[in-house]
Amino acid sequence: MIADDSSTRLAAVQDRIARAARLAGRQPDTVTLIAISKTHPTAAIRPLIAAGQRAFGENRVQEAEAKWPALREETPGIALHLVGQLQSNKAEAAVGLFDAIHSVDRPSLIAALAKAIDKTGRRPDCFVQVNIGDEPQKGGVAIGDLPALLAEARTAALPIVGLMAVPPADIEAAPYFALLAKLAREEGIDRLSMGMSADYETAVTLGATHVRVGSALFGSRA
Ligand SMILES: *Cc1c(COP(=O)(O)O)cnc(C)c1O
Repeated sequence: MIADDSSTRLAAVQDRIARAARLAGRQPDTVTLIAISKTHPTAAIRPLIAAGQRAFGENRVQEAEAKWPALREETPGIALHLVGQLQSNKAEAAVGLFDAIHSVDRPSLIAALAKAIDKTGRRPDCFVQVNIGDEPQKGGVAIGDLPALLAEARTAALPIVGLMAVPPADIEAAPYFALLAKLAREEGIDRLSMGMSADYETAVTLGATHVRVGSALFGSRA
C-alpha cells in the first residue's frame, strides 16, 4: 500500500537525519526535512501529511497552484517551499503561495520579489541560490557575485535567511556542502538549504538546516 510505503520511508529518512545530526553534535530538530513533491499527485502527498509531515517543496509555481490550495484547506499548518528557478513574472504568484523561496539568484528577481512583498504584505523566507559547482546550465549566483547580490537583497529589504545550492551530479557532494557552509559563515547567514535524496545525511553533518528530499520519500519520478 502507498500509505504504508511513504510513512515507512518518512520514518526512515527522519531517523537518518537524526543520526547524522547527533553525529555532528547537533540537535535533530535543528534540521527541517522538506518533502519535495514535484510531479507527484495529491493522492501521493496525502499519506505523508497524514504521517505528520508538514514542510513540502515544489519546483514550479503552476504545479504548486494546482495542487496545494486544496491540500492546505484539508490540513492547516503546512509550509510550502519553492525550490525551482523562478521567473520574475511569476514572483507575485510565488510570494502569494510559498512560505519560503530557495532560488533567489539575480538582481531582477530581487526587484520583482521586493515589489511582490510590498504589494501582498506576505514575506516568505528567502534563500539565495549559489551556483556552487560553477555549472552554466544551473541556476544560482556565481560565488564571486554573492556578496554584491546579498547587499542588493538587503537594500531591497528582502528577508534573506539562508543560502541554497545543488552540487554537481555524480561526484562527491561533501566539498560543495562545506564550501556553501563557509560562504554562509563569511556572510553571517545561518540557514543552509542543501542535501537531496542521495546525500542529505552528508549535508546534515556539514551543517544543513534544510534538506530537500524527494525520491527517498515518494519513490522515483516518472
Ligand atoms: C527535485 C529536487 C530535489 C529533490 O531531489 P531528490 O533527488 O528526488 O531527493 C531537491 N532539490 C531541488 C532543487 C530539486 O529540484
